[in-house]
Amino acid sequence: MSRLKRFLTVLVTLMFSLAAQAGSHINILVYHHVSENTPASTSVSPAQFREHLQLLQDNGFNVVDLESTLAQLQRGETVPDNAVAITFDDGYHNIYDNAWPLLKTFNFPFTVFVATDAIDQQYSDMMSWDQLRDMHQAGVTIANHSSDHGYLVRHQPRDEQWLTSTIANIEHAQERLEEELGSGVPKWLAYPYGEFSDALAERLQTLNYTAFAQHSGGVWSGSDFQAIPRFAAAGIYANPKTLLTKLQSRPMPVDEAQVSDMVTTQSRPELVATLVERNDFAKALNCFVDGAWQDSSWPSDLTFRVQSDTDLGEGRHRYNCTAKARSGDFYYWYSKPWLIYGQQDR
Ligand SMILES: [Zn+2]
Repeated sequence: MSRLKRFLTVLVTLMFSLAAQAGSHINILVYHHVSENTPASTSVSPAQFREHLQLLQDNGFNVVDLESTLAQLQRGETVPDNAVAITFDDGYHNIYDNAWPLLKTFNFPFTVFVATDAIDQQYSDMMSWDQLRDMHQAGVTIANHSSDHGYLVRHQPRDEQWLTSTIANIEHAQERLEEELGSGVPKWLAYPYGEFSDALAERLQTLNYTAFAQHSGGVWSGSDFQAIPRFAAAGIYANPKTLLTKLQSRPMPVDEAQVSDMVTTQSRPELVATLVERNDFAKALNCFVDGAWQDSSWPSDLTFRVQSDTDLGEGRHRYNCTAKARSGDFYYWYSKPWLIYGQQDR
């Protein structure tokens, strides 16, 4: 082999290996309780949690520091391949007692979102400020989950007065976190119950908050950074096999600016989603309304449409759509959360 040929071979190999290490998305997991004595729907047992961490380690996932990796995505930079981030909402005591020791064993970074009133009022099932400080000093990211963990957008009218008091609720929590923990608290919010509206998200954007919701799906550079999806991993979602399918999925590149508000009065909300591209989609799109298969259509090459054919009641609902990839054994994943609230139009 000539020197030039060998040089080129090395170069091409290097380029491929670099490309393999450069990812373009993060899949974020959300947990609440790691305990055997808490509500099943929002809990994993310590044994299940250890199994999840082992699954991440055994399948080549890079468990990343969410703050720095998200910043890379927001700047349009590449991120580690197979990037996964671990988050907890609410700040339960069992995270300190049961989850943290296991996370230390695996040396995995993670984030805890806390509602500060419950910490200030020293609820017995919540961590104390001293415990949160312990974690913060050890490099754990502690962030905002509002002051009171209220329903932020279930309010009528959702006028300027509502928006002002909602922002005050969020800013109070941010102040308490900064007072208690000092520097290193990111300007992040995890919406209680994953409920948000376009108006709230837009106001948070003007205040430089990044915000996290609770619908499933991965994060990419085109994500709505005021409504970042996270995969639930507790209760019925704790099964390692289905969890692995989600962890291996990639975000469907939907143009979020064109998707309608989460809050709707319609009992059969219509999702019209336009993709940036769909070159790697194998065949049919499979969509589900609250887990039940639902017919979808393509009004144009890059735009798909889904609408429930039964009335949905007030409260949270979810449309999920997946498409198998052509280039590998994984799915493209998209989830649209709805909050049906207010006067029904049917
Ligand atoms: Zn919560």
